[in-house]
Amino acid sequence: MSLTMDDRDGFIWFDGEILPWREARAHVLTHALHYGSAVFEGERIYDGRVFRLAAHSARLINSARLLDYELPWTQPQIDEATRAVVKANTLSSGYVRPIAWRGSEVLGVSAIGTTVHLAIAPWAQEGRLSVQVRDGGINVTLARYRRPSPEVAPGGAKAAGLYLVCGIEKDRALKAGFDDALMLDWQGRLAESTGANIFLTIGDRLVTPKIENFLDGITRRAVIGMAQKRGWSVDERAVMPEELADASEVFLCGTAAEIVPVGAIDGRPYQIGPMTRSLMADYAALVRQPDSEGFGESAHFAAGSERRAA
Ligand code: PMP
Repeated sequence: MSLTMDDRDGFIWFDGEILPWREARAHVLTHALHYGSAVFEGERIYDGRVFRLAAHSARLINSARLLDYELPWTQPQIDEATRAVVKANTLSSGYVRPIAWRGSEVLGVSAIGTTVHLAIAPWAQEGRLSVQVRDGGINVTLARYRRPSPEVAPGGAKAAGLYLVCGIEKDRALKAGFDDALMLDWQGRLAESTGANIFLTIGDRLVTPKIENFLDGITRRAVIGMAQKRGWSVDERAVMPEELADASEVFLCGTAAEIVPVGAIDGRPYQIGPMTRSLMADYAALVRQPDSEGFGESAHFAAGSERRAA
């Protein structure tokens, strides 16, 4: 089997139909390709179920609304389509990429007159941490670009255009021998990495940046829930990069990354400590619970319709 993304066996749900993988195509004059107007999700399949499926589908709808468009599918319909295409691909573990975009009827800055499309592509992906990462953590650096202010862009949307600087920073980090980059927000506070949220252990408390116009991670919410179950205090607050010096543990979390320990930030070493290890074990159990497809701690996405762009 070829390893390129467009030349594989399998099925992709595309505007209501389940198509053979190679037939799921968009035209080169598609609005989203030129102007970044696609919104998407990244989901994981564990034991045949998509973890927090309802929350991801709702966040997708909400991301489109933040870009001022409506998906022609409801959250339960998107959930159902996802289950159907995961089943068609007979996947018990893997990754799912739903993507909605504005089409090719007209081309210009305005998307008025384009239709909205939705595709859902699942594929096999194990994503287990290597022993080296599990025991030593990843090696990260600070990014140069920052997350945008609310006056600059709707940063809460998981929108293609917002990944422009993430991609530049991730590539810059990889080329310099790091695994990822940490991004500050427009006020110089710690925000997130190029594709995951961040937690620090300071003293006996878990600390994570309060969501300020960057992605409200579904894994981040799950981590807060797991920590609270263990009776740990979690502070969601402004975190300045200087506070990295006070932290004993640092980890990133996201759907694809799961919980990944940070072993060093620009040469400053961190231990893979007891809080990170406990949460990694808790998360491995949580994603396999039979009721894992629901909203979990991310139920607020279900009521996201009022989160319209200004
Ligand atoms: N921030 C960014 C920029 C991301 O791409 C992701 C991954 N979707 C996250 C945070 C974590 O979000 P989630 O836990 O919902 O996957």
